[in-house]
Amino acid sequence: MTAGPFLMADNVDAALAALAAGAKPVAGGTDLVVGARQGKDPLPPSLVAIDRIAELATITSTEETVAIGAAVTHARLMTDNLIVGDYTALADAAALVGSPATRNVGTLGGNVMNGSPAMDTGAPLVVFGALVELKSQAGARLVPPANLWVGPGTTSASNDELCTACVLPRRPPRSGSAYIRLEYRRAMEIAVVGAAASVELNEAGELQHVAVALTAVAPTIMAVENLDTVLDQPMSDEVLDAVASLASSQAKPISDLRAGAEYRAHAVGVMARRAVDAAARRAGGEHIPVPVNRAEGVGRTERS
Ligand SMILES: Cc1cc2nc3c(=O)[nH]c(=O)nc-3n(C[C@H](O)[C@H](O)[C@H](O)COP(=O)(O)OP(=O)(O)OC[C@H]3O[C@@H](n4cnc5c(N)ncnc54)[C@H](O)[C@@H]3O)c2cc1C
Repeated sequence: MTAGPFLMADNVDAALAALAAGAKPVAGGTDLVVGARQGKDPLPPSLVAIDRIAELATITSTEETVAIGAAVTHARLMTDNLIVGDYTALADAAALVGSPATRNVGTLGGNVMNGSPAMDTGAPLVVFGALVELKSQAGARLVPPANLWVGPGTTSASNDELCTACVLPRRPPRSGSAYIRLEYRRAMEIAVVGAAASVELNEAGELQHVAVALTAVAPTIMAVENLDTVLDQPMSDEVLDAVASLASSQAKPISDLRAGAEYRAHAVGVMARRAVDAAARRAGGEHIPVPVNRAEGVGRTERS
């Protein structure tokens, strides 16, 4: 069977059959269609729309996991009670994506499968230990993001695989998270650099677990290593300095017209510091509204 030029699938099996026949999925179209219009890549000859597949637009929980369907939009992620309450960094990130129009149709699956090193939902997914669910007619598999994103705009998924969900482990007590990005103006701008943090405190209020991942400072979203050196102590300026230094020294940024490599490496340390600080404050019960960027005034300009 060959795929027609445009099919609207109303269930996953129909979408998988279209992919097997050579079609490419389109969800919100905010990368695929906008990119084609801007002359980045022509539209593929055959497309299957997946945005009307109800089972991909659900957020479902079990005792161990929360599965966010690939077609869940950024607008929903930034307002859903479970996401805002337990996976706040993801809500922070979704709230920064583009404009209201972009967020109303742009999806988590599209963000993840587009594979940009500047994707905003990527670093939160990494710090939560999320797995990406991929399905084809041959079966399903769960892939850690680090194995999925292999280079800028490139994933290890085969052409016949559909991202159906991101599966996140349930959050422990006394945990908090945050995502913050550097941007030069308030809206419609992708991250110059960004950082997500997840923090768990023990009963004494000391750091029990800290995870940090960075946006736009490497060919893919990257996790910061050796954070165990800051554990088993209360939050302090020294802890935040150590986080900033680990993030800046491990970043491998490029220079482009938006920022030089040296500036990006420094700035991502500042973002990591702020993300860990906000995550720890949330873990301690402080209410910091989504997104942290706005709450902390990052990206605010005179006119915004
Ligand atoms: C004005 C504007 C501002 C933006 N700002 C931001 C920003 O601030 N931060 C940010 O991260 N992004 C931003 N983006 C990029 C884009 O909006 C996001 O990446 C969005 O999440 C893409 O989702 P989508 O559903 O529109 O993807 P689509 O365009 O439909 O698809 C993107 C890619 O993923 C593939 N795909 C989609 N869904 C699946 C699936 N379920 N399984 C397998 N492959 C799939 C498609 O084939 C395509 O290759 C912006 C875009 C625009 C136009």
